[in-house]
Amino acid sequence: MNLSLFDLHCDTALEMLRNKQSFFQNTLAVSLQKASVYQRYVQVMAHWTPYRLGDEEGWELVQKMLQNLKNDPAITEGKAVIQSVCPDRDHSPTLFLAVEDARILANRLERVDTLFESGIRILTPLWKGESCIGGSHDTEKGLTEFGKAALERAVALGMILDISHASVASAEDIFAIAKKYGRPVIASHSNAYDICPVSRNLRREQIRELIASDGIIGINLYKNFLKPNGNATLEDTLAHIEYFLEMGAEQYLALGCDMDGCDLPPDVPNIAALPHLAELMQRQGYGDELIREIFYENAYRFAKKHFKT
Ligand SMILES: [Zn+2]
Repeated sequence: MNLSLFDLHCDTALEMLRNKQSFFQNTLAVSLQKASVYQRYVQVMAHWTPYRLGDEEGWELVQKMLQNLKNDPAITEGKAVIQSVCPDRDHSPTLFLAVEDARILANRLERVDTLFESGIRILTPLWKGESCIGGSHDTEKGLTEFGKAALERAVALGMILDISHASVASAEDIFAIAKKYGRPVIASHSNAYDICPVSRNLRREQIRELIASDGIIGINLYKNFLKPNGNATLEDTLAHIEYFLEMGAEQYLALGCDMDGCDLPPDVPNIAALPHLAELMQRQGYGDELIREIFYENAYRFAKKHFKT
C-alpha cells in the first residue's frame, strides 16, 4: 500500500541540537531518510523546553533549536522545506513549526509575535504543572490572565491552539478563545481517556468539541498513554482509533506520534515502522481509504484550510 504521512508531533528538534545530528540521517526516531518510505511526508516539529530549565533559559534554547533546524543541511540543501502555509500536493518533504510549553513567553506578550515571525504556527501552550500560561493536565487550574492574552494574540496572528497537555479547565479556556476568532482547536498528540484514563488523554466532551471546532486529533504512541499499565504494542493504538471513529472522527483523526519525546512500543522504534500500523488496520478490516485519511489526508486537509499566513 502506497502511504503518505503527516505527523502532528515530534520532539526531534531538541534531540538534533543536543546530539548534533542532522535531519536527513541520524540515530533518532525521525529523519528524512527513515521517512523516505512515504510517498509524501509532512512533519510538525515541536520546539520543547526541558522542565528543569527556567523560562528565560527555555526561551534562549528554543531560539537555538529554531536556528539549528533552519541551518540543517536537509533544509539548506533543499531536501525538505519549512512552511507556514500548506504546500501543494506534489510537495517535497515539509516541516511545520510548533512550540510546546509556552511558559517561555515569561509574561512577555511581544514574544508571541516573535514566535509567529519565526514561523511557529502551532502553539501547545501547556506541558506540566502551573506556569505563567496556566494549569497543565496534572492540575485543575485554568489559564492565567496573561495566558488568555497570549493565546488571543496567537490566534489573532493565525496560530493554531493545541489542548494536548492542558488541564480540563485550561482546555475549556482555549476552546473559548479559538471560538471567539472562529478558529479550530487541535490535540496534536493525545489519546482517548476512556480507553487509557491518564490526565494527558482526551475526555469524551473534549473530543466532541475538537470535532465541532473543525480541529484535528493526533494519536500519540507513548506507551503509557496507550495502555494503563504502559505495556503497550502498536496494536493498542487500534482501541483508541476505534473509539475516536465511533465518535465520528473519521475526518478529524491523524497521527501525532510524539517520537524522540516518549517511550515507544517495542514494535514501532521509529517513523519507518509506522506502515506496520497500516497493516494492523487492514487486518482489522479498515479500508485503504480510511487508513490514508488517518495517516495523511485528514491532517493535510486541515493544514490546507487553516494554515494561511
Ligand atoms: Zn508533549
